[in-house]
Amino acid sequence: MKIRVRDITESPEEVEFEEPTSGLNPALRNGPSQDFRCERPAEVRLTHYRAGQDLFFDGTIDAALEGHCARCLGDFAVSISAPFHFMASPRDAGLGSGEDEDVDVTVYEGEEIDVAPLVRERILLSLPTTPLCRDDCRGLCSQCGANLNDDNCGCPSDSGDPRMAIFRNLRVDR
Ligand SMILES: [Zn+2]
Ligand SMILES: [Zn+2]
Repeated sequence: MKIRVRDITESPEEVEFEEPTSGLNPALRNGPSQDFRCERPAEVRLTHYRAGQDLFFDGTIDAALEGHCARCLGDFAVSISAPFHFMASPRDAGLGSGEDEDVDVTVYEGEEIDVAPLVRERILLSLPTTPLCRDDCRGLCSQCGANLNDDNCGCPSDSGDPRMAIFRNLRVDR
């Protein structure tokens, strides 16, 4: 989504747009969040305004994604609603003294500012580094591969350690 710099005025204006999956999914694949993908465009709502040459954007991003669980390998739905705040300064003015940590600072040049990369970055930062379908996902049985969230496969829980096998066999022999 590109916004013409001269359309950004001192009076705040609200805009809504969608960030398409064709932009989001390559960013997800190339980033640290390879186990997530977007099925639908992300919805972005923002208010923009300027103070002199500095442009300000405040808004929220709502996105529905599908994650691939690191433990049970199942797919699960994630929805995120992430606030974002950023300020853009003209490139030749250098970076502003953005001391406020809640505000991302960026630069722009030319007639337009493309907010899509900032939206994508915000989404990436909102995703967990280890995708889990739920915090207490029990994963897969190391012996039979059953999904332990669905059923208890019945494999003895201590048999994962091969050093224990000899004791089990001794018990059976007695
Ligand atoms: Zn899982
Ligand atoms: Zn099992």
